[in-house]
Formats: sequence, C-alpha cells, structure tokens
Amino acid sequence: MAALVGQYYVLLRSVLRTRPLLRRCLVRCRHCRIFFLTHPCNGGRKDLGCPFGCRKAHRKQQSTVRSVAYYRDAIGKKKKQALNGKRAKPKSEGNRPATGRWDPLMLEYVRLLVSLIEARSVSLTEIVQMLQRVLRQHSLGRRRKINHAVMWLQEHPP
Ligand SMILES: [Zn+2]
Repeated sequence: MAALVGQYYVLLRSVLRTRPLLRRCLVRCRHCRIFFLTHPCNGGRKDLGCPFGCRKAHRKQQSTVRSVAYYRDAIGKKKKQALNGKRAKPKSEGNRPATGRWDPLMLEYVRLLVSLIEARSVSLTEIVQMLQRVLRQHSLGRRRKINHAVMWLQEHPP
C-alpha cells in the first residue's frame, strides 16, 4: 500500500510540475490526509474525501443512515400505503459505460485528472482504453525506476 501511495505521489508531483496551475486543485482527504486533485470549483476545500476509498466508505455510511431512516419511515407509512394500494417505484440503475474490472470511483478520478491536465473533456470509455494501453506498455524497467522513486519519496513526502 505504501508503495502505491509513493507511486501516486511521483505522478502527482510530475503533474504539478508540468501544470503549476493545477496546484489550486490540490486538496487533502479529511479522513486519511492523502493529497489528491479535485475539480477547480472544489479547490481549497478541507471537507473532501479522497477517491481511493474514503469517499466510498463515507458514502456507504451515509446510505446506511438513509436506508435506516427510510425503513423507519416506511413502517410509519405502511398503513397509509396499504389503504392507498400504492406501490413504490423501483429505482432505476442508470446507464453506466462498460468499465470492466476498474473501480468506477477511480475511473472518474482518472477522468478528472486527464481532463484537467489536457484541458479538455475526456470520456470514461477513452480512459478505459488509455489504461488498457498503458498497462500493456508498462515494462519491467519502468517499474524498477518507479520503485526507486517510491523509496525516495517515502523519506521525502511532497
Ligand atoms: Zn482518504
């Protein structure tokens, strides 16, 4: 895990070096304190959760609170509903692009990063294709180089 965070910081640093304007998009997760980039309109906020797990965990918590409230409410409404003979509409799943084995939250984050870096709007499909291409080209030599950078960064965080 630490190695992954290191790799991530290597990338984040090089992004910020080549795109200094993106510094205003740099925020820190309020749960785990990791740095990440956010949409410019969220820049400077201190209440955001990172897309690497904290946001999802928090969302899950919220949805549990919501469903508990819903069921408590539902019991109260049961009588009335039975009288009306109405049935709640099933929630629609919504159309999502085929993202395969990728975590949708991570994909969305990568999509935001690429959009910010390239200053254009990038589709999720494009991101998936890009990731597949990059992973194919990822050579062992490059991995070694990154591992060295990771060891250095663990001593000197950004
Ligand atoms: Zn976090």
